[in-house]
Amino acid sequence: MKKILYNQKFKLTTLLTSLVSVSVIFTILILLFASYQSEKESLVKTYLSLNDSKSDKISKSVNSLFQSMRVSLKETANFLKENEGITDEDIQEQLELLRKNSRYFNSLSWIDEKGVVRNIAPISVGLKGHIMTGVTKEVLNLKKPTLTTPYIAPSGRLIVLMSEPFYDSHGKYRGIIGGTIYLQEKNVLNEILGNDIIDDTGSYYYVVGPDGKLLFHPDINRIGDDVSANPLVMKLLQGESGTQLVTNTKDIRMLAAYNVIPETGWGVIQQTPVSYVQELLKKHVQKLILYILPPFLILLFLSILVARMLAKPFIYLADLINQLGSGEQVLTPKTQSHWNREADLLTKSVCITIESVQKNNNKLTQAAMTDTLTELPNRRKLNEVMAIWANDRQLFSLIAIDIDYFKSVNDTYGHQAGDEVLKYLAKTVQSVIRKTDMFFRYGGEEFVLLLPNTKASETYDIAEIIRRTIENEISPVGKPITISLGISEFPLHSNSLDELFKYADEALYQSKLEGRNRTTICSHD
Ligand code: GH3
Ligand code: MG
Ligand code: MG
Repeated sequence: MKKILYNQKFKLTTLLTSLVSVSVIFTILILLFASYQSEKESLVKTYLSLNDSKSDKISKSVNSLFQSMRVSLKETANFLKENEGITDEDIQEQLELLRKNSRYFNSLSWIDEKGVVRNIAPISVGLKGHIMTGVTKEVLNLKKPTLTTPYIAPSGRLIVLMSEPFYDSHGKYRGIIGGTIYLQEKNVLNEILGNDIIDDTGSYYYVVGPDGKLLFHPDINRIGDDVSANPLVMKLLQGESGTQLVTNTKDIRMLAAYNVIPETGWGVIQQTPVSYVQELLKKHVQKLILYILPPFLILLFLSILVARMLAKPFIYLADLINQLGSGEQVLTPKTQSHWNREADLLTKSVCITIESVQKNNNKLTQAAMTDTLTELPNRRKLNEVMAIWANDRQLFSLIAIDIDYFKSVNDTYGHQAGDEVLKYLAKTVQSVIRKTDMFFRYGGEEFVLLLPNTKASETYDIAEIIRRTIENEISPVGKPITISLGISEFPLHSNSLDELFKYADEALYQSKLEGRNRTTICSHD
């Protein structure tokens, strides 16, 4: 359960790496978004103002064109007025000349007050002598300068008619001088404004009449179409000019500028599709990504590197403390100095702490395994040592030692004297045995001697030396004491440590039975 919970925690390196990555990615996104937005605003502004200046220019040139056209019609009317009585051929010639020279009109005609086409240039129109009805008749009746909206002429053409009233020298109304523009053919408008009006940005312009019908459009088939539903056309019809983002009648979003042409009551709209600006924006963002990605990737890489370097000492310390906590023996870490202040402080403190904890632990372990009276290792240590040796399948012998009639020592000289005897025994035995032999206080007045790589027979000699030494030395109570000993050998007598003890004890018991102050080897095979 604890393990599972622990595994669910995030590693510091993972956390730092994620944090750095997320920060860098967000920075890139914010940068891209901000740049995209500002570029978009600037492009929209640029194209609106470009379109505005272009539509203004068109409006002005169309306006002055129509002023000139008007003057031309007036001059024709004046010519007729001043040259009354000239022949029909002369008038025809004059009209042909005027039309050819100015190239303003597709046809130029004199229609008299009764609606009869008196002269028309070019003659090929074929209307000379015809009586005009319809729009021409209405214009005739107005008796003032007019410019019609587009209409279908008797020839089947879509035209507009510009007219100037003609009064003779007596002030009598003699009809109109009319000039026509064939909207869907080569005419003064497309000659002046140009045919190739869609540029490579997809921008183009068109001209609408006062009734919201197209007079000029790059798509010649749309000329005459009613586009009065277009919000910009509505504004133009109300005499307004300006710029605006608009969705046109074909559902295409446009950055448009619109300007009224005052002379005609027409309006011009110059527009760029939003899709073109979006295309530019896309390229801008792609370029931006190309520029900012490499340095950001380097930044990301370096940040992750630094984050990992920062995390490293903490991870090391965490693992170290974890090891220490789970009771493992920990190698005292090198007190490396670290460039990060906190890591440096923490590493040093942890090193000092671990060292002192381990020292204390060792002391405690040592204390727990030492007998306080004799300062010999105790039974716990004995078990540990034997377990290690047995595990290594190492041959060794065990001597169980017990002081004879120790109760009477206590009873006669007192408990304290008894203690002194125990200390004396410990010292004396230690002074006799080899460096490799280990002497333990087993409990009470019982002791154990372990002899590595020593067979029972050899052990017997050492046991006898010990026994005789004790027997011959004066103990703290003023006379020698005696001890009884029992020997067993591992693994000769038993593989089991408990049994090995039991057999040594049995041998010791045998020594006691046989009168004490003697050594017995285990009799089991
Ligand atoms: P035997 O020859 O059969 O071994 O007789 P014994 O008197 O030595 O054996 P017994 O087991 O009857 O007595 C052991 C005594 O050792 C009893 C106890 O008071 C004494 N003793 C045990 N531990 C200590 C100690 O730490 N200090 C002192 N002074 N006496 C101890
Ligand atoms: Mg005893
Ligand atoms: Mg005893």
